[in-house]
Amino acid sequence: MGDAEPGGDLKDRVLNPVEAISPMQLFQRTLSRPVNCTGIGLHSGRRVNLCLRPVEPDTGVVFKRTDRPGSPLIPGDVNHVVDTRFSTTLGSDGLTVSTVEHLLSALAGMGVDNVLIEVDAPEVPIMDGSAAPFVFLIKSAGLTSQAKARQFYKVRREMSMSEGDKTVSVAPSDALKVDFTIEFDHPAIRRQQMDFSLSERGYEKNISRARTFGFLSDIRALHEKNLGLGGSLDNAVIVDNYRVLNDDGLRFPDEFVRHKVLDFLGDLALLGRPVLGGFTAFKSGHQLNNQLFRELLADRDALQLVVPGLEQQQKPRRAAKPQAPQQVAVA
Ligand SMILES: [Zn+2]
Repeated sequence: MGDAEPGGDLKDRVLNPVEAISPMQLFQRTLSRPVNCTGIGLHSGRRVNLCLRPVEPDTGVVFKRTDRPGSPLIPGDVNHVVDTRFSTTLGSDGLTVSTVEHLLSALAGMGVDNVLIEVDAPEVPIMDGSAAPFVFLIKSAGLTSQAKARQFYKVRREMSMSEGDKTVSVAPSDALKVDFTIEFDHPAIRRQQMDFSLSERGYEKNISRARTFGFLSDIRALHEKNLGLGGSLDNAVIVDNYRVLNDDGLRFPDEFVRHKVLDFLGDLALLGRPVLGGFTAFKSGHQLNNQLFRELLADRDALQLVVPGLEQQQKPRRAAKPQAPQQVAVA
């Protein structure tokens, strides 16, 4: 995407989340401090408190249901996906957490490897229907580089899944790329395509603000099932048969496909490690994405664990001018 890599100012430990971060960061990262927010649950319409906490290296992304006795944990990985019908739902020992994909997308897009996600409800708050509020939270917390190398999954061979006219496929690539196409017989959507290569700036600017979308008729059907009760024009783009109903219109002319990329990155995060591979999707959704990711994990030859060489990490530091002694606040 041509995003310039800021050079010459990489620090050993604490990295500013906006600057000096490459998607090829070599050390695992967690948040610098806990952060909280409150929103409403898309399905219940009720208030949900969310807290993101720093954790040790190699922990990955783990959810905690603080509303239940003993605050049980639910791992954020592809093998704990129990439902993909309206959003991605994770479950463990009969306990679930829904609507995880926008938060997972923000964490992956901003390069957070290890985090504990506490919620006091069976769902993550929907916020404005995009990942931007979560990006804001992550940036408010700041990111800390941890003393443990990041391991990537490198895709080694092509693989593809289809269901009807929906397809999703992957091929080897040195970077994470997502080429997504959607097609709706709807005057406000039609055919939209986006080819996205992951970088944190690119994610924040081009993907994170794209909101989820729904059709008025589907939303009525959800309400009849007592689902989607928190859904409104405040947290989704809603279209009737002809047009976008939101007063302020769209954030991007192709906001719909951008949100599909956002969702895809959230689903992909459930592999548990950053991925180097080129994905191509046509009309795919959570279910088909998840099938491909499970298949990738199950096939021993499809993914290779790689730890990028330390020499790559050395380059920007050598290029940097010797730094003046850091100013340290003395208590
Ligand atoms: Zn979504």
